[in-house]
Amino acid sequence: MTRQSLKEFCYQLPKVELHTHLNTSFSDKTLQELVDRKAKLDDNSEYRSWKLTFTENDNCPIDESFTLFTFLHKIFNDEYSIYKLTYDIIHEYAADNVKYLELRSTPKDVPETGLTWPVYVDTMLRAVRDCRAEEVDIVVRILISIDRRKGVDVARQTVSLADRYLHDSDGIVVGIDFSGDPQVGDATDYIPVFQSAHEKGLKLALHLAEIPNFEETLNVLKQCHCDRIGHGTCLNQPSPGDGRKELEEIVLQKKIPIEACMTSNVKTKTVRDYESHHLDFWYKRNHPVVLCTDGKGVYQTTVSNEYLQAAEAFNLSRQNLWDLSFDSINHTFASDSVKSMLRAKWGEVKSKMDISPYGCNS
Ligand code: 5GP
Repeated sequence: MTRQSLKEFCYQLPKVELHTHLNTSFSDKTLQELVDRKAKLDDNSEYRSWKLTFTENDNCPIDESFTLFTFLHKIFNDEYSIYKLTYDIIHEYAADNVKYLELRSTPKDVPETGLTWPVYVDTMLRAVRDCRAEEVDIVVRILISIDRRKGVDVARQTVSLADRYLHDSDGIVVGIDFSGDPQVGDATDYIPVFQSAHEKGLKLALHLAEIPNFEETLNVLKQCHCDRIGHGTCLNQPSPGDGRKELEEIVLQKKIPIEACMTSNVKTKTVRDYESHHLDFWYKRNHPVVLCTDGKGVYQTTVSNEYLQAAEAFNLSRQNLWDLSFDSINHTFASDSVKSMLRAKWGEVKSKMDISPYGCNS
């Protein structure tokens, strides 16, 4: 199989995206427009010189991405930009044959522009509903993010906000994401917040073990329900103290799906290269993994590209790719009826696709 035909197959494949942050998932075109608009509004051309994406072979350590995110938050700080980001991103995923998207974001309060937490979430919801009214062929759900840099009180308020929308968004808001710089704070402090979110019926997608945070990851996994793990880069590494593999054992035993963001991990140097990505470890153990972009704008990728990279790195066949994509439906936070609808959609496409039993290198 040539690379081109594999690439085409990955594009044609119906896909699910479960780990993508709103403020890092812009297209180049949307970014350009929003940067130009902001430069004009603030009469500050400096914004145009900020580095806001990682280009090809442009690897930067993870802490540099958090500096970059701070710049992005200065650009995307009003209702217009949040609407535009959400609306464009939904269309772009649909154009990449993504049929189900969970979009996560940290609500912002920006008094200068009138942005408040409820306005932020309402704006995302408005964009989702507008896309639905246009019959864009994609189901969208929202996770509200807790930024671990902001402390436990803010996290509690975030859960209250999410709880309100869980009952007042026609089922669009479904859960909580826990993210932010993994080098800041201790996830252990957030355990009561996660427990309360779970009790309220919110789904939990938690960034864990992106870096070797063994202690906090163990505490969270032992004491909390966790529906999916974001990255989980160091879960299968032996703990530095006693060399035990307790994290790996818990995750395998609880069968917690891993959101694997290969390009993001390679570009932020938490993983050496695609071939050494931990996807391989979990995949070989038949453990649920879902291929995701993390931030298709910042990391310059697409879901189709993540499938291509996985196929090339681990010699996955078309059937393997199909199965990965189909199994991802099981790990969405959608209702059972939406999952059934998605399975039927995959079924319709399957007969039209050439799913040969050969590996991509054969
Ligand atoms: P937003 O929530 O503003 O829509 O998306 C950007 C935010 O998502 C960042 O400020 C950060 O809190 C979080 N984020 C984006 N990418 C990553 C990542 O790779 N790891 C972690 N821990 N957080 C991330």
